[in-house]
Amino acid sequence: MRLTRMFLPTLKESPADAEVISHRLMTRSGMIRKVAAGIYNLLPMGLRVIRNVERIVREEMTRSGAQEVSMPFVLPAELWKESGRWDVYGSELLRVQDRHGRDFCLGPTHEEVVTDMVRREVRSYRQLPLNLFQIQTKFRDEIRPRFGLMRGREFVMKDAYSFHSTDECAEREYRNMYDTYMRIFERCGLLFRAVEAETGQIGGSFSHEFMVLASTGEDAIAGCSSCPYAANTERAEIGEPVAGMGPSPPDVKEKAIEEVRTPGMKSVEEVSAFLKVPPARLIKTLIYSTDKGPVAALVAGDCEINEAKLKRAVGTETLALADEKAVGGATGAPMGFAGPVGLRIPLYADWAVRDISGGVAGANSADAHIINVAPGRDFKARYGDLRAIREGDPCPRCGSPIEIKRGIEVGHIFKLGAKYSAAMNSTFLDENGGARPFIMGCYGIGIGRTAAAAIEQNHDAEGIIWPRPLAPFDCHLVPVNVNDSETVKASEAVYSSLVEKGYDVLYDDRDERAGVKFKDADLIGVPVRITVSSKTLKEGAVEVKERKAEGARLVKTECLAEEVKKILAVKCAPGG
Ligand code: ATP
Ligand code: MG
Repeated sequence: MRLTRMFLPTLKESPADAEVISHRLMTRSGMIRKVAAGIYNLLPMGLRVIRNVERIVREEMTRSGAQEVSMPFVLPAELWKESGRWDVYGSELLRVQDRHGRDFCLGPTHEEVVTDMVRREVRSYRQLPLNLFQIQTKFRDEIRPRFGLMRGREFVMKDAYSFHSTDECAEREYRNMYDTYMRIFERCGLLFRAVEAETGQIGGSFSHEFMVLASTGEDAIAGCSSCPYAANTERAEIGEPVAGMGPSPPDVKEKAIEEVRTPGMKSVEEVSAFLKVPPARLIKTLIYSTDKGPVAALVAGDCEINEAKLKRAVGTETLALADEKAVGGATGAPMGFAGPVGLRIPLYADWAVRDISGGVAGANSADAHIINVAPGRDFKARYGDLRAIREGDPCPRCGSPIEIKRGIEVGHIFKLGAKYSAAMNSTFLDENGGARPFIMGCYGIGIGRTAAAAIEQNHDAEGIIWPRPLAPFDCHLVPVNVNDSETVKASEAVYSSLVEKGYDVLYDDRDERAGVKFKDADLIGVPVRITVSSKTLKEGAVEVKERKAEGARLVKTECLAEEVKKILAVKCAPGG
């Protein structure tokens, strides 16, 4: 591709709304342009990268035995009403009406449509298993679209859905998809980790997220420092502590509770400093509104509550911190003074609370706390693992210290069971002629987000450093001076010989200063830069520089193709 002919508007400045590096660099390198919040045009440079991700995903999905289909983007409300999600999906679902006033939505995910498709065609266990995938546009009216393609409203996803007659078969396919995802992200050339993820209401351990490691990632990953255990911090379990290992001195255990004045002191830090009690002895009490009514969650003052764990413990679909009014209703006090003693709503407490003695808690009245609180004696709670895991906590598998890393979720695999098939009366006939709901799994990959995550992980101050498999071009050819006929002649020869050998070459044939061209080359991040100048031509050579390496080297023109081949040779996917 000749740069003079390419629709490639690069920018010196980052757009004002670009908070993360991938968004800045994708815009500056002419990959994307914003149309509306969370909605983008993909320009030729951007589409090349997206197509690379898609190609790897498509090849590996097909190799795994899945079959590609294409489902519509505009979906009838009836199917969503059947599954019950029309009412519970909330405002992320963009609803529209046709000219007859019929309800539709823009597809944010396709469980309903695929379940409907399969129930119409598949009658017998003999037609199973089946895994169907598509690479297609999704729409989610995200509350805060941001970070460019990373969290768009309209975005491209590979989504796959599998159908099985037995649980064992569904689990086999889950493992097959797990392995397939490992191959996909390896082939993309990314540093990533598969982590155990939150399964929400569905339960079981059958959900993994694939996280590209990057310090700018939105998600926190708890990984063991010595065994392979890794989990989303939302999910990461913390074992029950050994009793008696709590933070409190035993001598204060027997004292009766006593109310003390704590005017205006609401935060753990304020109360702890004022009463001269370490945060670990405070019983932080948070009131939540749930679909089971208000509940109180108790954690030690030096810990954070993990809402996903609380949600599971309570068994509620919805969970939100209670507002001032709801807190007042539950405790009779303004916010900041809730405590478990005398509270008449269900109490859920983290293990660590059980071991507190001489505890401090809100008094459920304004400007007051109580001291000498003894859990068990002064209140009864349901105990469990409710706090967020921290760096250094013991690994739930082997006990070694946990490390917290940051990542970007690019893929998610899920064993669904019969959630959708049962709700949508979607059945097959088993060996005995009995009707049973399909056992399902679903498997997603964010295509645009994978490209963005690749940049978050691979860049420097000058621009993108594309992993070879995702790079928009293989080589970036820079003639230093297009007004020098020798240089042009040699550049044209290099260009046609590399193109002939099957390489994608971006040929910067502009009449620009070399400095400008080099800056753009660094910004765009193609793996190999080849510079042609009259100076090196005198030695029969061109200059070759890898984007990821520091220095350049001279290569004889006749050895160039071999050199490029060597640099671009990448490890094939396992078995590929
Ligand atoms: P998140 O937790 O980041 O909102 P999710 O759990 O809702 O994502 P899934 O429903 O699991 O996402 O979707 C599968 C994949 O689609 C995700 O792993 C992610 O890579 C991608 N994805 C989800 N939402 C977006 C978005 N708004 N923009 C771009 N990609 C997205
Ligand atoms: Mg997810």
